[in-house]
Amino acid sequence: MAESRVHKVASPAPSAARRFAYDVIVVGAGPAGIFAALELVRRNGARVLIVEKGPDITRRVCPARTTGVCNNCEPCDVTCGWGGAGAFSDGKLTLSSAVGGWLPEFVPAAELDDLVHYVDQVWLDYGAPTKVHGANGKQVEEIRREALVHGMTLIASPVRHMGTERSAEILKVMRKDLERSVDVRTGTSVERIVTIDAPGAGRQAGAQRATGVVCDDGTEYSAAAVILAPGRQGAGWLVEECKRLGIGLHTNPVDIGVRVEVPAAIMEPLTSALYESKLVYYSHTFDDPVRTFCMNPYGQVSLENYGDVITVNGHSYADQRTEYTNFALLVSTDFTEPFDDPLTYGKSIARLANLLGEDIIVQRLGDLQQGKRSTAERIERGTIGPTLAGATPGDLSFVLPYRHLLDILEMLEALDALVPGVNARDTLLYGAEVKFYSARPKLDAGLQTEIAGLYAVGDGAGITRGLVQASAAGIIAARSILGNGKG
Ligand SMILES: Cc1cc2nc3c(=O)[nH]c(=O)nc-3n(C[C@H](O)[C@H](O)[C@H](O)COP(=O)(O)OP(=O)(O)OC[C@H]3O[C@@H](n4cnc5c(N)ncnc54)[C@H](O)[C@@H]3O)c2cc1C
Repeated sequence: MAESRVHKVASPAPSAARRFAYDVIVVGAGPAGIFAALELVRRNGARVLIVEKGPDITRRVCPARTTGVCNNCEPCDVTCGWGGAGAFSDGKLTLSSAVGGWLPEFVPAAELDDLVHYVDQVWLDYGAPTKVHGANGKQVEEIRREALVHGMTLIASPVRHMGTERSAEILKVMRKDLERSVDVRTGTSVERIVTIDAPGAGRQAGAQRATGVVCDDGTEYSAAAVILAPGRQGAGWLVEECKRLGIGLHTNPVDIGVRVEVPAAIMEPLTSALYESKLVYYSHTFDDPVRTFCMNPYGQVSLENYGDVITVNGHSYADQRTEYTNFALLVSTDFTEPFDDPLTYGKSIARLANLLGEDIIVQRLGDLQQGKRSTAERIERGTIGPTLAGATPGDLSFVLPYRHLLDILEMLEALDALVPGVNARDTLLYGAEVKFYSARPKLDAGLQTEIAGLYAVGDGAGITRGLVQASAAGIIAARSILGNGKG
């Protein structure tokens, strides 16, 4: 493995004083944090500070994108920095309130539809392409019917595909626009949320009120409201802060599976009509929900580094194509009592792959079915050249529990009936892909926690899992603050 690289350069604090007063502090500059700031500034010119632990967007470079080998950068350039995990994402804007998170539990359906439309318009204003995939109703209905015949439900949503390079450009424009009215500190981690006892705050958890944050360099910033938007990277930190502050937490399901890579031509019947198709299947043996997720036509398999664990993901560029399409197959598990730590369970499985494969394992489906490991020679003989060059040929049956493995193999069979050629010997499976939907703090309809003035939004708060809903969550919190008169 190449030598570690450490980002230590932080943008300077706004002045030499140790305390600063803002209307709102936003922790994390992913889509949730950025959209919260945009909304606050657009609506009433609030004084906003954004604190982001990763580097600025122009300084984000992931060596693994070219070498396929993770350098263990601290923090990870794919998930941290201005733009958050969205900066290097595939940039698929899924234009439906039915996918991408749990916001329907907080916002009435019609209101959420309006919000999705509003979010889409903001992305468009900053340069997202006008083309929308999946708008051909007749074609989509045919796929839906065919999927049902083979036991799968199609959740079809229109998709606007920005592509990895264009997403980053758009986020740069947002950065430029915001820097005129918002203070931004990159390379700075928030370590602690500051609260005071506030008997009049009218909420639980000892009736406290958030008054600011303390950063890793010791600087303290004060504000009337704090929005936590730390993404999946900061989910563990958010949980620890919630526990320290006595905020109640709900556990979320954990999604574990593999990334599948096939020749793009095989997936064309789906990807040309829908770009991304979300198919849900209940496995025969265990009756578990298995679903396709994050489909990247002509894309590339990539890595995600969470500091203590590396998982697999995928993306695609707007203007550069590979010959392959990749997508995730994920098994969702909702643990019941007494176990309440799905995050650690998911990480433990990903760690097994890291242990055996030095980070990510790749295996031919045919080898897995025949009970043998893949070797570099066998993969080379196959029809698919792995787009994640650094993955180690190995055996995923040493990584995934029997239940997950069987669920995935059954789903591949069902999928093959819809898209012949998917369940083929040379199909590549990369593991492990794990989606950490963090434990979710107890939130009200405005996404305020049990502490007055403290809001939690986006993937890190366990309420979203995609760009559109993360952006929408930021807007809900911003509007809630403005409505509460704290802006
Ligand atoms: C490779 C890849 C491809 C993807 N493709 C798509 C796609 O095509 N479509 C889609 O809808 N979604 C996609 N996603 C998911 C999408 O990027 C996320 O859902 C979205 O970015 C979540 O937004 P967020 O603002 O909640 O969190 P994030 O984007 O994760 O941002 C959180 C930010 O908070 C910062 N932070 C964390 N803790 C602290 C702290 N203590 N102090 C200061 N800063 C902190 C982090 O550094 C990070 O920059 C993809 C993700 C990846 C990794």
